[in-house]
Amino acid sequence: MQKIFMTLALGSMLAHAAQDKKYILTNTQLLEAAKVPALMSDSKTGMAVAHISTLQESMLIRKSHERGRCAGFELLPVQDFTQKDFQKILQDVAARKVLDQKAQKSFKRISKKESVVAAINQVSAAEIQNWVKWLSSFPTRYHKAATPNKHVEALKAKIDEMLVKYPQVKAETSLIAHQSTPQKTLRLHIEGNKFPDEIVVAGAHLDSINAGFFGPTGKIAPGADDDASGSASLLEALRHLLAQGSFERSVEFFWYAGEEAGLLGSAEVAASYKNQSKKVVGVLQLDMTLYPGNGDGKIVSMTDFTSPEMRNLLEEINRMYLNIEIINDECGYGCSDHASWYRNGYPAIIPSEATFNQMNHNIHTEADVIDSKSSFEHAAIFSKIAVAFVSHLANL
Ligand SMILES: [Zn+2]
Repeated sequence: MQKIFMTLALGSMLAHAAQDKKYILTNTQLLEAAKVPALMSDSKTGMAVAHISTLQESMLIRKSHERGRCAGFELLPVQDFTQKDFQKILQDVAARKVLDQKAQKSFKRISKKESVVAAINQVSAAEIQNWVKWLSSFPTRYHKAATPNKHVEALKAKIDEMLVKYPQVKAETSLIAHQSTPQKTLRLHIEGNKFPDEIVVAGAHLDSINAGFFGPTGKIAPGADDDASGSASLLEALRHLLAQGSFERSVEFFWYAGEEAGLLGSAEVAASYKNQSKKVVGVLQLDMTLYPGNGDGKIVSMTDFTSPEMRNLLEEINRMYLNIEIINDECGYGCSDHASWYRNGYPAIIPSEATFNQMNHNIHTEADVIDSKSSFEHAAIFSKIAVAFVSHLANL
């Protein structure tokens, strides 16, 4: 009797485990590091699909963390995934590459704007510190926490409060609900006064994670660097952009849900923008800005799954306003939310705090807090980039 019961129990556990398996889009390097077999892969792009169990998912999150990056994969919310589906994704990425080459050929150098110089000079490291302190004071911002939207709603209220000071700006915040997570994405839309249908996007992920040894838990996850810092750099940029009053193109800021669990929020947002044929002219992602792993005044530009013309714009912004050292590095598919936009056909960049080998080892643990290595001056560089990126792209 007991034996039959045990067999039944085991059977139902296995059936449950099979049901729990998920399809993910990632890169072959991460799969190899986590010893997870690829279901299909492409040697040209390094992209791969795997069908993973919950245990394998935690291995991937842990390996990605050891490599100093976020999720490292995109969750594909489907019951079945075929070779044909993979080919479609590869075609979409190849199509983006063709557009990238064309855009790079017609890339126009920018000229210095005194308004941007003035805004950049006012970027405050202390303001960023206040934001990081506040965001990392929530015990966790995990997408499956008991109250996954507490910090999202609190940030919305703070931004709404900020908007009251700029009544001349046509701006509105909204919470976007998702299929794949109970957490919501926070969006701020500023309507363009000349080309409202053309959108400039700047984003960071608001969720955090404690990767745990046996998988993510609701344990303490302050996520000061990952990614309260990127969220904060963006908030400080927003303050100076609102002071500019208006833009020719629409500008949208995003604080995404569930990035750490597979780009959940951004994947849904980018896919829905593509389905609605929304015109996004450029995407800036800020994910980890607080840890100057390669030294003060040195940042990184990721060259894979990003667009050369956007990277050129970053170089121009640096030449014009910053004069710092930008090191090129690669982070693989799915290392942050820009990948969702890129694969849906939109040009994207991700400037980042440091290279893979000089990473912050404390991310995805309770130790990702403000400490002696945190540099708010470093995080301020990214606010300046965001100010210049939006000012130049949103005004022709
Ligand atoms: Zn992150």
